[in-house]
Amino acid sequence: MIIDAHVHIGKMLEFDMKKSEVLYSMEKYGIDYSIVSDCRAAEFDDDLKPLPIECSFSQLECAKGAVDFAKEYPDKIGAALWLKPFNECADRELYDFIEENRKYIKALKFHPYQSKYPFDGEKMVGYVELAEEFSLPIISHTGGSDEASCRRVYNMAKRYPNVNFIMGHMGLGTDNSEAIELIGSLPNLYGDTAWVPVENTIKFIKEVNADRIIFGSDNPIDGKDTYAQNRVGQPSMYIPYFNELKNLISEESYEKLMYLNAKKLFKL
Ligand SMILES: [Zn+2]
Repeated sequence: MIIDAHVHIGKMLEFDMKKSEVLYSMEKYGIDYSIVSDCRAAEFDDDLKPLPIECSFSQLECAKGAVDFAKEYPDKIGAALWLKPFNECADRELYDFIEENRKYIKALKFHPYQSKYPFDGEKMVGYVELAEEFSLPIISHTGGSDEASCRRVYNMAKRYPNVNFIMGHMGLGTDNSEAIELIGSLPNLYGDTAWVPVENTIKFIKEVNADRIIFGSDNPIDGKDTYAQNRVGQPSMYIPYFNELKNLISEESYEKLMYLNAKKLFKL
């Protein structure tokens, strides 16, 4: 069994991630379940300019986007609500939406880089308290800016020991060593493997354990065959996760990484 904890839908600038691509790739590459967030909730582009108005959607519209997909395929898809701390907040509407759709919602998701908002900033408190109240884990993109640093996710995890936090990418664009060290130092911190080379995942398992790392990919960011090849047609970095990795770590560790930890964390 494989659970992918980091999957997207939605059109945002040059990205257009379709539900049909998610479903196609899950079938083709043997992914049993995906945790999906709607990337239309990004607040700034890659150069940190506000997104044009025609590309802006409210956090509730994006929450509905992910939840509608989960409602259509409840055995395959769980929703992670990508929220917008720069422009919005954890308001009553969001609370009511989560309460009403709790069974389809598996996590809250933040992108402090594309929200240009520090993960441990004051407006995050309301969201984290919401997660605590609904016993939802929080996934945060990490890497690329000070706002999105691994250290800030660590700070929040330290402040809220009853909430589980997942560092998406474990520090994108780094050698992952800071993330590995921080995750190892708090019991409520986890990492996902999106864009993490398989050697660093092995390092994580050796240095921390096999209990706090989960498989994630950013599928279908490079198209419907993201699991096999990147956008310029080179073999993807996920191939070894499906093949060689089985022979490099124990069977128990492999199963924890590929689905058991996610099952526990997202209560699937
Ligand atoms: Zn992502």
